[in-house]
Amino acid sequence: MTRLAAVVFDVDGTLVDSERDGHRVAFNTAFAEAGLPDHWDVTTYGGLLPIAGGARRLASWFESTGRTPVEARRLAERLHARKTEIMRDLIADGRVQARPGVHRLLDELDAASIPVHVATTGTRAWVEPLLERVFGPRFQTVVTGTEVPELKPSPEVYLEVLRRTGCPADRTVAVEDSANGVRAAVAAGLRCVAAYNPYTRDDDLSGAALVTGGLDDPALVAWFRRHN
Ligand SMILES: [Mg+2]
Repeated sequence: MTRLAAVVFDVDGTLVDSERDGHRVAFNTAFAEAGLPDHWDVTTYGGLLPIAGGARRLASWFESTGRTPVEARRLAERLHARKTEIMRDLIADGRVQARPGVHRLLDELDAASIPVHVATTGTRAWVEPLLERVFGPRFQTVVTGTEVPELKPSPEVYLEVLRRTGCPADRTVAVEDSANGVRAAVAAGLRCVAAYNPYTRDDDLSGAALVTGGLDDPALVAWFRRHN
């Protein structure tokens, strides 16, 4: 096995437990502030997660609840801007934390001098403060949904990381938690290791080289030791 050139991490649900107690809460606060009756409980939000990108998720929801497409898009844009501000506040308050095992895996990759990067469809305005607060200056290259024309499952965000770093795809490994993420990584030519969470437990992760229940799973730790 050739040595790994780099490891590229997804953010939401992979590096951090951000969905249920981060994004979902921020969306609900934005709804309430705007005087809207909409509210996403844990199960409803889980059903919306396959729609990548907060603004798209909002627009799809508003259309499904009877707003016209134009109204839905306008409302989604306004709410998404406010939701991003609220998410930044939640991050500053320490409400979004690393998933178990992430810090140890990053330490091991660092000790092996393997560069780590980020490929996320999240918005740069909250991704940057989140990475800074939870991980410090760990990641060399960070590409977000703000910089690419198409979100996962499109491979665009991974291809952009490869372009910027010069890493060969076949020696670069992605770490993902969801079906959309695994599809994006594999379509970009990367091998992918998947660590599902309660929201993505039933996702089709069959494109991944390894599927585990967490980044602290001994099988995942052993996989990286074997491949670096
Ligand atoms: Mg994810």
